[in-house]
Amino acid sequence: MADRDVFLPVPGWGKGRYSSLCSDDELLDDDNEPISNRQSSWQDYGLSTLQESVYLPVTGRVLAQPPRDGPSPVLKMGWLDKNPPQGSLYYQRRWVKLDVDYLRYFDNDKEVYSKRIIPTAAITGVTNVGEQKFEVVTTNRTFLFRAESDFERNEWVSVLQNFTRGHQEGSREITSSVPHSSMTPGSPLTPEKHGYLELRGLRSKLYTVVSGDKVFLYKNMEDYRLGIGITSIDMNVGNVKDTDRRSFDLTTPYRIFSFLADSEQHKDQWVEAMREAIGEALSNSEVANQIWAEPSNGCCADCGAAKPEWAAINLCVVVCKRCAGEHRGLGPSISKVRSLKMDRRVWTEELIQVFLLLGNERLNRFWAANVPPSEALSPTSCSEDRRRFVSSKYRQGKYRKYHPLYGNQEELNNALCINVQCSDVLETLCLVFCGADVNCSTGQADCPSPLALALAHNQKLQAQFLSHNLNTELPRSEVTGAMEPQHYSPQHPVTHNGFLFKTASMARPITERKAREEFSRRWCMLNDGNFSYYESDKNSTPNGTLKSTEIVCLAVNTPERHGYDHTFELYSDSERIYLFGTDDPDSHREWVKSITKTFIPSNAEGLLRLAFERIGRLRYKDGLNLQSPRVGWFALVGSSLHAYLEDSVEEEEIHLRKLQELSIQQENEVLVLVERGRTLYIEGEKKLDFQGWCVSVQRAAGSAGDSLSQQQLTETDIPVIVDRCIDYITQCGLTSEGIYRKSGVNSRVAALCEAFRRDARSVRLKEGEHQVDDVSNTLKRFFRESGEGLFAIQAASAWLSTPVIPEESRKICHYQLLLSQLPRVNKATLRALVNHLYCVQRFAELNQMNLHNLAIVFGPTLFQSDGKDYTAGLVVEELIEHYTDVFEVDEMQLKRQLDEITAIIKVREKLNHNSSVPASGSAGDFICTVYLEEKKETTEQHVKIPGSMTAAELTCEILDRRKIQVREKDYWSCWEVSQKEEMERPLHHLERVLPIIHSLGTDSHLLVKKHLAMEAIRIYLASKVDVSKHGMVKFREERSILGLGLNTGSFHDRYFILSTVSLRMYKEVRSNRPEREWQVKNLRVYLGIKKKLRPPTCWGLTVINGSEKQEKPERQQWYLCCDTQTEMREWFSTFLTIQCDGNVWPADAVQTRVTRALPADTRHGNVALIPLRGSENEMRNSVAAFTADPLGLFRDV
Ligand SMILES: [Zn+2]
Repeated sequence: MADRDVFLPVPGWGKGRYSSLCSDDELLDDDNEPISNRQSSWQDYGLSTLQESVYLPVTGRVLAQPPRDGPSPVLKMGWLDKNPPQGSLYYQRRWVKLDVDYLRYFDNDKEVYSKRIIPTAAITGVTNVGEQKFEVVTTNRTFLFRAESDFERNEWVSVLQNFTRGHQEGSREITSSVPHSSMTPGSPLTPEKHGYLELRGLRSKLYTVVSGDKVFLYKNMEDYRLGIGITSIDMNVGNVKDTDRRSFDLTTPYRIFSFLADSEQHKDQWVEAMREAIGEALSNSEVANQIWAEPSNGCCADCGAAKPEWAAINLCVVVCKRCAGEHRGLGPSISKVRSLKMDRRVWTEELIQVFLLLGNERLNRFWAANVPPSEALSPTSCSEDRRRFVSSKYRQGKYRKYHPLYGNQEELNNALCINVQCSDVLETLCLVFCGADVNCSTGQADCPSPLALALAHNQKLQAQFLSHNLNTELPRSEVTGAMEPQHYSPQHPVTHNGFLFKTASMARPITERKAREEFSRRWCMLNDGNFSYYESDKNSTPNGTLKSTEIVCLAVNTPERHGYDHTFELYSDSERIYLFGTDDPDSHREWVKSITKTFIPSNAEGLLRLAFERIGRLRYKDGLNLQSPRVGWFALVGSSLHAYLEDSVEEEEIHLRKLQELSIQQENEVLVLVERGRTLYIEGEKKLDFQGWCVSVQRAAGSAGDSLSQQQLTETDIPVIVDRCIDYITQCGLTSEGIYRKSGVNSRVAALCEAFRRDARSVRLKEGEHQVDDVSNTLKRFFRESGEGLFAIQAASAWLSTPVIPEESRKICHYQLLLSQLPRVNKATLRALVNHLYCVQRFAELNQMNLHNLAIVFGPTLFQSDGKDYTAGLVVEELIEHYTDVFEVDEMQLKRQLDEITAIIKVREKLNHNSSVPASGSAGDFICTVYLEEKKETTEQHVKIPGSMTAAELTCEILDRRKIQVREKDYWSCWEVSQKEEMERPLHHLERVLPIIHSLGTDSHLLVKKHLAMEAIRIYLASKVDVSKHGMVKFREERSILGLGLNTGSFHDRYFILSTVSLRMYKEVRSNRPEREWQVKNLRVYLGIKKKLRPPTCWGLTVINGSEKQEKPERQQWYLCCDTQTEMREWFSTFLTIQCDGNVWPADAVQTRVTRALPADTRHGNVALIPLRGSENEMRNSVAAFTADPLGLFRDV
């Protein structure tokens, strides 16, 4: 749906002066240059190359950049006179500033907010007009300036001309610093929110645009389209406050902007959008700027590189990206690496203070007190030198300055306890990294640890430092061969011993049953963090030992899995599995707990109380940090995954059966769990243990059996299968005669049941693909065959005896009592089902299924009886009849629900009635919203899409409706556009639209507009002898599920060869073998790249690899970034022509138009959309929209 704000009336822009803004001065400038040439402001982009170089004047008066300025360097600034506004005779003195992105002028040189902001990309010409004057020309407006001297004027003209040279040559491009919307002519920005807002004191509305980390103000929408704004507000200094029902303030240190929205709801949206912009601004630079405020933090602590954007939060050093990579290699037990720009969550005020207090320079007096010049790094050092240096510095502590108490543990601990009570964090750091025990006992009962002591003395910075070092591994001078980091040291020494039975260790999963004979009796001892097994209790040399730090996972087998009744497996980090067994359950339990205790860190000890079947450490990434995996401790108990994630003390529980998605990606290396609100990516430390986790987690997340509670559930505890079926019937089946009585096609019902049983989450019921009677029978079969039934076997008789209770009120009470005794899932399910049946019978005149008919069907089904007597039916009948009383239903809510259904039925009737195709064939039709030229409410068209409709037909239909004449070389096409308009793809004219609609994400839409580059594409292709292309491209990869990306690094140069069959990628030009190869026909190529990925140029292509047949939503996605627009065009053209065998544009476009018979139903195009992209939420939303204004739907019919 388009943003309503866009369509508010454009305020009349009167002439003359405006009332002052915020009572201090006049923000707006009244330049009434004639608007000319408006029609041609959307120019075609030629294939010419943009001048990429940025002109920096050699002589210009480039002044020091004021601190408040944005990141773009100022090219030139100074005082100029601007031509007088209409009706005035006097020139206005303005402070004018030119940077890479914008030409701006201000009231004076102190002012932060401009009166006018003109994107340099919009400047088409700069001309000398004599008398110290010059003109800056944009497509619709000319700005006249007068300098103080000819010399000064010439300088301005020269800088401006040089800088905007590219624009004059016809290739109007948008520079890379403007958000990447270069594919969409028209708006220069990709706004998060835009529309009219009233600025208080102005008595007029401004077109306001929130985009990225800025807010832009324009006089009106026209100006916004043309890119000529009033000013931009950097949100890194902004603060948004609600002030009234409809108004809010955007406060900056320089000015308060008081806005007034049209409604409370709009205000909320604006406030939210602006707050997000602040968040974006802060996340990008705030922390970094704060940390860099300490001058020595402006250079990497290890190599000296400028502007380091990473930090080791436990070591308190700020480092550059390359050094951070080496820090990460040390493991989180030595260096906890976080980004200053991306890991927003970790940067608490206190942590920032610690970094300011210490600073790289002071820290290096400790960490780098004795660096031999030969070992020191420089910003250009190679990775190997960096690795060696970083490891020596922090893992071994080789260069550190030894504390005088070094080696005397007791004294060190003492000193630590004393020091944490004062503010000297540096001393604490020296003590800790010279061996003082962060977890030592203070001897004080109320403050048992140094951390508690620091907190008790209100030393927050000390506490902050200590809390990041509770598990830090101390520098060890002795160089061990192994580079494997030791993750955690166990908190409590555990000792345990006894006999266990053991098989030979294995390097693969144990799938077969191990007989008793395969086990040998071994004396086992757990001591000092080592688990050792001996030939017998007389031997003193163990046959083998597992260090606690080597154990990555422990799995408890189900009883009697092997020859010994109770067994468990230990997974070592050297990829071996050890199987132990005993017949004694108590001994088994004791061993499992004891061993687990040795390898679990103290902060995850909460897991020990659980009856887990698998426990261990795994690496994970989540939405807050996709950069580097962190270590978490996980335990699987039934269908719940319990976890202690790094940096959190709270245990988390993930209900696996309630997951929205679960999949294994990247060649079985990542387990992806999608919950509402977050996605967790889990990786194993080693292959074997991860394989085990995958199997167990998948099993735990699937239905465990046929009883209700063993199914995959919705958030409201209803089996997914029940929820999906009811939803589908409500949408598509309420008018179906004999619904639930008629039987479906047995084979299809069986297949559906099986699909739900296998993985209910992945089943999407779609009109046209699934038949109403098949779905209704799937639901019935599920209830009939579910173990224990809906009413739970033991309680069934109590339910069946209720109808004999004579008095109605007592009867209802009794039903309520029975209901309250049902298990949680049964209760929720019964409620949902009865609600559904209640609705079905309310529309009995349409579907012929009245109360009695439904009861006859559902009685025996729900009670799993033979149906010979009507008792079961009677119960169901009474439950439906007394539905509102028994379930204590809110009448208003029920009424709303019934209204919704009525609206759905009406719309469906309308569709069927008007449909020119036979009713049976119309089941596959969908109504879809398509926009013309631009996504907004007034351009919205609702089109019924038959399965056979092609993109060209859809385009014609839209143009016909709008009575748009197609002229020669008007390449009207249908486009798939992502919501932020960062990516778009023209559909091929023969491409069928319906499958595209089904595959569209919620953030995408279809748009009909001219394909401005088509002429150029055709000329290019015509000039080619063969269809292939090769060259260097910047490449970046992302594998995505549901649009959530796994970040896999940055853009790298790769050599590509695109032939008629495949796209091959080579590491470099000379490589013999391709690194990767893809079938071109399986690729979907989009123009543009998400700006979040910060592509190096704005000429990018997004490529999605996924054949249509693939069932999973898992898609592989990558990005190609070209150096020039021409390059990008050529790649895109080549892809295009290969994919459609040279038929990029219909030979006779006019013919297509004529032969297409206009469907009879074009006139009711405004019926709003009902189901149509398959997601239940969306269906609900569209239903909710009907309810809000059901009449509105038919207004234009
Ligand atoms: Zn560095």
